[in-house]
Amino acid sequence: MSGCIFCRIIGGDIPSDTIYENETVKVFKDISPVAPVHLIIVPKIHIDSIESLNEQNAGVVADCMLAAKKAAEISGIDKSGYRVISNVGEDAGQSVEHLHFHLVGGIPMGERIL
Ligand code: 5GP
Ligand code: ZN
Repeated sequence: MSGCIFCRIIGGDIPSDTIYENETVKVFKDISPVAPVHLIIVPKIHIDSIESLNEQNAGVVADCMLAAKKAAEISGIDKSGYRVISNVGEDAGQSVEHLHFHLVGGIPMGERIL
């Protein structure tokens, strides 16, 4: 059994509140939401982070962004706006080493670095 928590969620071993799924991507609610809408978008294949992307596997990023768009629409924040973030490594505070994108929205997000 994989020790990766997101692989276990993808495999159905750990339950999650899934809001959208297709062949290559799963989108589920973050267990500790920081915004009214806070979703996690993961590729179904295990990739550690953006640092582990290459020409062979980078197509999953496009799949994740299309899933982000769908998930925003399903969550009713496609018109009001949202933010998509991927933490990479220590300084960004990446806590799960399976490539994922946070989709947050449902509230004006004033504080920003970028
Ligand atoms: P990171 O800090 O790696 O960018 O984000 C990991 C995110 O995964 C965190 O926001 C955390 O709340 C979420 N998370 C960790 N474990 C679980 C879990 O078992 N289920 C769900 N739904 N979210 C999780
Ligand atoms: Zn994994």
